[in-house]
Amino acid sequence: MSDDILMVGAGLSGAVAGRALAEAGFRVTVADARAHVAGNCHTERCAETGVMVHVHGPHIFHTGNETVWDYVNRFARFRPYRHQVRTTLGGKVYAMPINLLTINQFFGRALRPDEARAFINEQAEPGSEAPRNFEEQALAMMGRALYEAFFKGYTEKQWGCPPSALPASILKRLPMRFNYDDNYFAHPFQGMPEEGYTEMVARILDHPGIALQLGRRVTPQEARAHDHVFWSGPLDAWFGHDAGRLGYRTLDFERFTASGDWQGCAVMNWPDADVPFTRITEHKHFAPWESHEQSVLYREYSRACGAEDTPYYPIRLAAEKAMLAEYATRARAETGVTFLGRLGTYRYLDMDVTIAEALEAARGFIAARAEGRAVPAFMAEPL
Ligand code: UDP
Repeated sequence: MSDDILMVGAGLSGAVAGRALAEAGFRVTVADARAHVAGNCHTERCAETGVMVHVHGPHIFHTGNETVWDYVNRFARFRPYRHQVRTTLGGKVYAMPINLLTINQFFGRALRPDEARAFINEQAEPGSEAPRNFEEQALAMMGRALYEAFFKGYTEKQWGCPPSALPASILKRLPMRFNYDDNYFAHPFQGMPEEGYTEMVARILDHPGIALQLGRRVTPQEARAHDHVFWSGPLDAWFGHDAGRLGYRTLDFERFTASGDWQGCAVMNWPDADVPFTRITEHKHFAPWESHEQSVLYREYSRACGAEDTPYYPIRLAAEKAMLAEYATRARAETGVTFLGRLGTYRYLDMDVTIAEALEAARGFIAARAEGRAVPAFMAEPL
């Protein structure tokens, strides 16, 4: 196969799609502007403390997709990990996500599951139609008191806008339970790669059909010179941002170290509006099978992403959606490029979905080539 395929980005999307193409016999160049693979799930062992640090913030692998679970287990030894989060509100610590303990702690009650369900039903404000945004979803699910305490301030800090401007889907990421299960995720498969995500992605990329070029920033002009390019950089960057910049939130991490166990859990949320950060991550708790005397922590601050910042969360408000629709229409008219991943399709993607879509994109490419069809710009639609 003589195709000269360029994969822009050595994050999960580029690595997984690149590997699938290489295994099918294609030769693939994977280029990334950064000096390391794994994109924003990059992990690095701190030389001073020995702690494995999630450099771009917490990444917990969880999935309901057995194919994806089998896939990641081919490239890394996954250790059992169960994500637990706490939240400090007004000087008191509560369980997250909202569960029977949170409800009983917050309202000073000792309700059993059915009683709690009835109690929350009384507080809920279901509205006359299906919830149209984050706030309506929260009011319908849990009522005003819990929403204002645990979600309103946190969400305003995280997203920089009123929750009524955000899609309901953001809140639907979190379960709400009427028992004492405080597992942050509801998926059947959950774990942490023993040697970190960067090692796992490096193994995915380790194939004779893949040439890895780190520290190489590819321009769309250079990319077009290849038979086909998979672009996992920002969709708007492909067009030189000429119709405007799609909005993102970026994160600033204030790193500090401590001795022993500083907060007792991996992630502590801070929903109070007058606390400037959203959460504190204590990285050693991501590897409960290791033991370290010292601890590395990140205070996490969210703000609007400038041109030079690292994009983390696509915002997708009304203005972004109109701009996205314009870029997506133009992207569909392109030939020789497929847009992939969180930045390429401007969606809030979890790692497992990113992997599933990258596998699907490679399959779609292989089938299109075999049948002599044009390769679509999107295998997963951004809108
Ligand atoms: N959220 C909140 N309070 C919390 C936790 C989450 O308001 O204590 C909201 C917030 O808007 C966040 C969203 O729920 O962006 C999804 O939370 P998740 O933990 O999935 O966010 P991530 O870890 O992806 O940043």
